[in-house]
Amino acid sequence: MNLLLYGAPGSGKGTQANMLRDRFGIPHIATGDMLRAEIQAGTPLGLEAQPILARGQYVPDDIMIGMIRNRLGKPDCAGGFIIDGFPRTIPQAEALDVLMHELGCSLDRVLYLKVDVSELLQRLSGRLVCPTCQRTYPPSTAACASDGTPLVQRDDDKAEAVRPRIEIYLSKTVPVLEHYRGAGIVSEIDGRGTITEITGRVLAAIGENGRFHA
Ligand code: ADP
Repeated sequence: MNLLLYGAPGSGKGTQANMLRDRFGIPHIATGDMLRAEIQAGTPLGLEAQPILARGQYVPDDIMIGMIRNRLGKPDCAGGFIIDGFPRTIPQAEALDVLMHELGCSLDRVLYLKVDVSELLQRLSGRLVCPTCQRTYPPSTAACASDGTPLVQRDDDKAEAVRPRIEIYLSKTVPVLEHYRGAGIVSEIDGRGTITEITGRVLAAIGENGRFHA
């Protein structure tokens, strides 16, 4: 099963991707997490990406396309995958189409987690994250409920970066949804409510027996 999670920053993609990974045993490919790992390791790419992420802007398409090409070519992707955070621009979406063709596979579903902009702004400001497992938590939570690691705030969840992230999403990434709507593979999922409720909607969209519902 080849899935793509689409949604604005703060729409809950990472949370649902983790659930799908655990449930179906397929890798979760999150370009934001991959970039943060490069930054953490101090690689040349990490040094280039760090100020871009901190400002809430996008890393250049050629870098991101190279990163996803490399990752999807790994053997663990042969049995399916969940892509989260890519494509964010039309050139990235077109490159992914070419890559899927080269790999002899296709996207089964694009799961669009739909959340209003006002709620996104509220969710992102003050959000905390576990540096070990990347789970996110509301403001003033002390430690990760899963592994006990003290939580931190992502640079791009600081107030000054939140609005630019939403603005670039609206201008550059919303057209990507239209690209997939044209292909007839988008399931629109109400992203409001509890995590359990949203998980139920995601699983219903995928279908228990591999049949997909719009
Ligand atoms: P969110 O969806 O909450 O913004 P991510 O972890 O997916 O968070 O991404 C964090 C940042 O990483 C983005 O704001 C952007 O700077 C960079 N990034 C991730 N994926 C891409 C991509 N496909 N193209 C360009 N930049 C990206």
